[in-house]
Amino acid sequence: MIPPRLKPLILPLWNGGHRLAWRLGEYAGAIRHRRFDRCIICGRWGPKLYRRWVIRPELERRSGVSPTAVEAWARKESCDCPSCGAKLRARRIAEVLLSLDHIGSPPSPARSFRDWVASPEAQSLRVAEVNEIEGLHTFLLRLPHLSFSEFHDDAAPGALVDGVRCEHLERLTYPDASIDLLLTSETLEHVPDLSLALGEIRRVLRPGGRHVFTVPLLPGVPTTFPRARLRPDGSIEHLATPVSHPGGDWGYPVFTEFGADLPEILRDAGFEVDLRFGPVREDDVCQVFVCRKPFA
Ligand SMILES: [Zn+2]
Repeated sequence: MIPPRLKPLILPLWNGGHRLAWRLGEYAGAIRHRRFDRCIICGRWGPKLYRRWVIRPELERRSGVSPTAVEAWARKESCDCPSCGAKLRARRIAEVLLSLDHIGSPPSPARSFRDWVASPEAQSLRVAEVNEIEGLHTFLLRLPHLSFSEFHDDAAPGALVDGVRCEHLERLTYPDASIDLLLTSETLEHVPDLSLALGEIRRVLRPGGRHVFTVPLLPGVPTTFPRARLRPDGSIEHLATPVSHPGGDWGYPVFTEFGADLPEILRDAGFEVDLRFGPVREDDVCQVFVCRKPFA
C-alpha cells in the first residue's frame, strides 16, 4: 500500500518506468526482427516500431481474420518511424508518390518525401489531402497549393471549422478538373455512398490527375459488400456485422468492406487502376491504390 502523501511522487515514476519498458521492448523487437531501415518520409535511419495492440481484440473478432493477417494489419497500422512518426501505410503512400510522373515529367530523383515536397514538381501540384494522413501531413503542409480538409458531420462542405476546411467526399466543393493529386488513407470505407464519392473524386481530378489511397483490405474477402447504409433520416441501418474503427465496437462506422474486386469497381467508376504492393496476402495487407483519371 502506497501512503497517500507519496502517491503524487511515486505514480509518475511508476508510469514513466512502464512507458520506458514498453518503448525498450519495441526497440528490442525491431532489432530481433531486423526492422531497421531508412524512412522514405523523413530520410532518417532507425528502427520501425511494431505495435500489435493497435488492432483491438473487438475489431479483430468482428473482422474475422486469421492471426497472421491481423499481424500484417498491425504492421500496416504501426511499424512507426521514431523520427517522424509515420506508419507503414504512410511510408508506402510516400514511396508511390515519389515514383509517379505527376506532371508528365520523369519520377522525382528525391530520396525522401521531405525532399520531394521541396521539389519544383511537387510545389506546382494542386493537392487535396482529404482527412489527415499522419506522418505525411506535416510535410504536405509545405506545399503551397495544398488543400487540406477534414470531415465534419455537422458542418457544410466548404465551411471552415477551427480554420480547417470541411469536405465530404460525396459532395466535394472543388471545381471540376481542379486537382492534380487527391490523397486519402483509410477513409473510403467510412463513406456511406461509395459510388457517389468515386464520382466526385473523378469529377474534381484533372485528366491525368490521380487519387492515391489506402483502404482496409483483408484476405479472404472476394467481393466488396456494404456493412451499413444511411436511412433517409440519417440513422445507420446495419446490413452485416457492425464494425467501427479503431475499436471494433466504437469509433467511425465502416459502411463498405472492400474485397478483391475493388480494382474492378474502380475501373467501372472510370479510373485507370494500379495496385501497388499487391496482391493482398495473409502476410501483407498494406497495398496502395493509384487511380488515374484518363485523358479521354
Ligand atoms: Zn521517418
